[in-house]
Amino acid sequence: MIDLSKYTKELSKHFSASENILLICHINPDGDSVGAQLALYHYFKAIGKNVDMMAPNNLQEFLKWMDGAVQINIFTKDRKKCKTLIEGADLIVMLDFNQTGRLGEAEKSVIASKARKVVIDHHLDPENVADLIISDPSKCSTSELVHELICDINGGKFMNRSYAEALYVGIITDTGNFEHGAYSSRTFRIVADLLDSGIIKEQIINLIYNNFSADRLRLQGFALNKRMVVIPEFKTSYIYLSKSDLKEYNHVKGDTEGFVNMPLSIKGINFSALFIEKDNFIKLSFRSKGHFPSNEFASQYFSGGGHLNAAGGEYSDTLENTIAYFLKVLKENVWRFEEKD
Ligand code: 5GP
Ligand code: MN
Repeated sequence: MIDLSKYTKELSKHFSASENILLICHINPDGDSVGAQLALYHYFKAIGKNVDMMAPNNLQEFLKWMDGAVQINIFTKDRKKCKTLIEGADLIVMLDFNQTGRLGEAEKSVIASKARKVVIDHHLDPENVADLIISDPSKCSTSELVHELICDINGGKFMNRSYAEALYVGIITDTGNFEHGAYSSRTFRIVADLLDSGIIKEQIINLIYNNFSADRLRLQGFALNKRMVVIPEFKTSYIYLSKSDLKEYNHVKGDTEGFVNMPLSIKGINFSALFIEKDNFIKLSFRSKGHFPSNEFASQYFSGGGHLNAAGGEYSDTLENTIAYFLKVLKENVWRFEEKD
């Protein structure tokens, strides 16, 4: 855990010195990246700052209901406006990522911007991409970190309903509704304050989790029934979905979210992978239980990264070859399961 007070003074200076603040989430943003972004947005609005938001490529359907989400500019949909915002900002805050590659097509413009840059994140091994990097992997979510920073800056407390809702979404999505990840007693103290602010947790849970299409549910059934492979001797299971599988179930972005977690519920399975066929590459997601370093595996073999127990990457080959390569490198790493398990 890092000592936040070491950072809040400098962060506070950046906030005070800035007239035009631009908040950026990562490519294909999850609930935490958008939650942290919207929470900061509502904070800056409440204190009367000029603040804008940008997402590199899209916003998933299940996050669009959030207060302020319509104000998020999508770089790939409105490049002109986004470039103007990037160039006009005097402070850019990047949320829930620590590599400029996670900015997608916005990367060049953000790097070229003269704005001062701040990273607020909870992933390991940040790249040196900003003037101030606040990175704490002991936090369950960037949203939790954002709240602690804002409270520190704001004399111990800050809360309003839209802000609380955004943080709640960030925390539940990054912990699978308090099932995994680095949540702690501190997280629950924050959540207690969020609930006291008047948010309706049942409503939020419904909007986040009970919002699927019938096709999505059928795709999940198909994935488990026909596309899941279990390798007990490697304590591993993987699911693969081809483009034609996805087409058959009228796949829309976000439909496969969470699939990678499912094989971990099998007794004795400590590592899970999901292969999704894209146009020119295979997108991989990894989840592990215990000490198997998904992030090292992802960065060493699949140009990716992430957390110890949740990571991702990609590989430019066919689905078949990617699975064969995965099995080969998995075999080379299988000792990592056996060491302490
Ligand atoms: P997911 O499997 O949910 O897409 O991603 C899990 C975690 O891995 C996230 O925390 C995300 O930051 C990280 N991650 C996923 N894909 C990539 C990738 O291509 N590159 C890097 N560096 N991290 C990734
Ligand atoms: Mn996160």
